[in-house]
Amino acid sequence: MTHVLDGNAVGKRIRDDLRDSIADLDSAGVKPGLATVLMSDDPASETYVSMKQRACDNLGIESIHHELDADAPADELFDTVETLNNASEVHGILVQMPVPDHVDKREVLRSVDPVKDVDGFHPENVGRLVAGDARFKPCTPHGIQMLLADAGVETEGADAVIVGRSDIVGKPMVNLLIQKEPGGNATTTVCHSRTKNLSEKTRQADILIAAAGSPELIDGSMITEGTTVIDVGVNRVDADTEKGYELVGDVEFESAKEKAGVITPVPGGVGPMTITMLLYNTVKAASIQEDVAVDLP
Ligand code: NAD
Repeated sequence: MTHVLDGNAVGKRIRDDLRDSIADLDSAGVKPGLATVLMSDDPASETYVSMKQRACDNLGIESIHHELDADAPADELFDTVETLNNASEVHGILVQMPVPDHVDKREVLRSVDPVKDVDGFHPENVGRLVAGDARFKPCTPHGIQMLLADAGVETEGADAVIVGRSDIVGKPMVNLLIQKEPGGNATTTVCHSRTKNLSEKTRQADILIAAAGSPELIDGSMITEGTTVIDVGVNRVDADTEKGYELVGDVEFESAKEKAGVITPVPGGVGPMTITMLLYNTVKAASIQEDVAVDLP
């Protein structure tokens, strides 16, 4: 029987545990605060930011939101980040990507104070992750690591194949899986748009992580019996629905489910874990900045 992982349920359990960590902070007079900054008219970005704000509200994390016109000068964004870097009630800062073309994305990532960088994308935090001394693990790969652990999927010695080499999913995922620590010790292969014979690689996977942003790229013929399949993709495809589209993953769920030992659905798999780990990082950031020890899930 294929085990379909429930990211909503695992995420909820972690968020419930985070309530205890937040209570520890509260006893020390600290309320964790997350600032979101949106500089985009993209409805998907607006939805992501409002989901993050709602998740904060539900857990008792203060959420502070700044919205800038998409055509505002870049300096307006940098000034906003600087103000948030200096605001003591703000422990985490998240600038929703993508930013408009006239804003240098790398400069944005560098502008956030590394101790408030709850996305984990500042070069200092990327370096710490690679060096095995992570401060903030990027939310999506960290959420996947937690999902695997919750399902009892052993990473040690496993052949993990990651499809996608982005800075936010593929690269940090590899770096988590190769660390000498629980949830790591895997043997990793990274595939990308120039990879030859993709299915040859994916069939070697004990754990296959699809993060290509390509609808249903991976089907059942590309995986081996018993593989753990983690589908990160969220793709809008035209469909005869009220909205005119539906969301599909990078994996063709029905055919992959026939072969997989463990599989995540889209939606309801990786997505809820990403938001949960953002809350986790915000609590961690508050604990570091306020020097209050808390137990994290
Ligand atoms: P990206 O576009 O930055 O990177 C995609 C990567 O996939 C690239 O490295 C590219 O080389 C590789 N790729 C593309 N087509 C390929 C192919 N045919 N064969 C092999 N490799 C291929 O994307 P991203 O930001 O990493 O996101 C990937 C997907 O995950 C998107 O659908 C995105 O919406 C989704 N996502 C979901 C969550 C979540 O929480 N559920 C979080 C982040 C991203």
